[in-house]
Formats: sequence, C-alpha cells, structure tokens
Amino acid sequence: MKKKIYLYGLLMLSLLLSCRQEPRRSAELLASTSIVADVVRQVAGPSHTVTELIPPGASVHQFEPTPHQIILLHQAGLIFLNGAGLETRLIKAAVSQVDSTHLVDLSTGLDFRTHPDLHGQSSHDHSRIDPHIWTDPNLVKEWLPVMTRRLSAAYPEDSLIFQQNARIFADTLTALDQWIREQVGQIPVQRRILLTDHRSLGYFADRYGFSQVGALIPSFSDLAEPTARDLARLQDQASQLKVPAVFVDRLQNKALARQFSTDSGLRLVPLLMGSLAVDAATYPDFIRYNVSRICTALQE
Ligand SMILES: [Zn+2]
Repeated sequence: MKKKIYLYGLLMLSLLLSCRQEPRRSAELLASTSIVADVVRQVAGPSHTVTELIPPGASVHQFEPTPHQIILLHQAGLIFLNGAGLETRLIKAAVSQVDSTHLVDLSTGLDFRTHPDLHGQSSHDHSRIDPHIWTDPNLVKEWLPVMTRRLSAAYPEDSLIFQQNARIFADTLTALDQWIREQVGQIPVQRRILLTDHRSLGYFADRYGFSQVGALIPSFSDLAEPTARDLARLQDQASQLKVPAVFVDRLQNKALARQFSTDSGLRLVPLLMGSLAVDAATYPDFIRYNVSRICTALQE
C-alpha cells in the first residue's frame, strides 16, 4: 500500500513537472514581418509561439511565401498582417490555401497616406497606398485592440492576459512617442528634412513634423527603378535644401544609393526599414535605433 501511494505521488509529481516545464504547444500564430511578430508577442505573452514569415533583411515589399511557409500557413490558427497593401502577394498565395478568416489585417480602418503623384488612379492599385504603418508608434497602437480581439476569440481562456499585455504595451508606445518628440525637438526646424531610399518614412514624417524631399526610388515599394532624370532632379533639390544625408536600409546593399552618394556628396545613413535586427530586436528598440540615427545625422 505504502509503495502504491509512493508511486502515485511520483506519478503526480512528474505530471506536475512536465506541465510546468513544457510550454503550451501553440506554434499557430504567424506574422508577416518581424515587426508585426514582435507586437503580437507583446500582446500574446510567452505561452504563445509567434513565427514570422519574412526573414530579416529580405524586402518586405511583394513578399511571396516559400512552399514550406505555405504548409505553415495551413497549420496557423491566426496570421497577422501589417495590411495597407504590404502583403499583396502573400495574401494571394494564402487565400487559395487557407481559410481567409484566419488572416488578420491589423491596419483595416486606418487613414492611409497615398502617393502624391498617383492621385486619381485605381483604388485597387495598392502601390498608391503607403504601407509603412509601423514607422509611427501611434498607428501601431491602433493595432492593439484588433490583435486583442482576435487573440481573445481564438484563446478565450487567455483573454484577460491579452488585455493586460495590450494595456502595458500601449503605455510603452505612449512613452516611446513622447521620447521621439523630445529627440526631434532638438533638431532645428529647418533641418527636419528626410531623403530616403524609397518612400518609407511618410507616416513618421507626418507625425513628427519632417518634410520629405523625395526618395531615390520615388515609390512606396523598393522594387521600382528611378530614371536618370528623377535622380538628377533629386540631387538638385537636395543641394538647394542643404539636405545632409540619405537614409537607406541597413539590411540592403543598394548600388543605387552608393552611386547617388558618390555623385551628390551626401552621406549614407543606414536605418532599419522593414525588419528588426539583432541589435534592435524589439519594436521599441527598432524605433529608438532609427530615431537616434536620424536626429544625430540632421544635427551634424
Ligand atoms: Zn518600404
């Protein structure tokens, strides 16, 4: 009898330990970019696994999933997307494969920027919508209620945890916004000018009072090609306005940017554009990384 109780106790203990040590098996949350994935992680908490589809360094524009990722899309309970036309090809590949109710477009209902040169074109042409929502933390904050609602519907038992995590992260984003305003406040107003490799910082520029001279690639995507005339005009504008630097994607080595820098004498300042990096592994770190570099470059 004693032995039986002992064995029973041992069994219960090992069950208890295995429950505690093994995190819940839930690789079912997918996110398109590493930035979206980080925000989902903040809200979902450590007991849910979030996997990103677009590897750091790859262009987030026009991303197409690999055959292996198609399998992941099949298995996923929820697939979180930045939206605003960023993942057009990913969505096209996914809708033929997975239940579209699993797709969560985080930016539905936001007020999108549109390309100034493309007004009046078809509203179905996503290249006229600026997809770089994540450059403004205030817009990322708008993702949180959608995220909380969808996560809560999928995992009702964790609903209170999601709500609490979302509140904490919203406070982090409010503090981040305040920090950006303080940093930008140190740049003389006439120097708050951005020249970028493509039109990637529009929401950031609008929110924090920067003007944009233009971009080496005059498009919301980094896949288009500028003409020689576009580049010559941009070089003239930049020298008239005494623009000190060109902000380029650190994770992409573009011959175009190097050539422009040589021709114009402007310094290239690498930023993180579409994905997190080892030294900026969370969304708030990503923002701090970029804002510090922008502010330093424009004050010099
Ligand atoms: Zn971009």
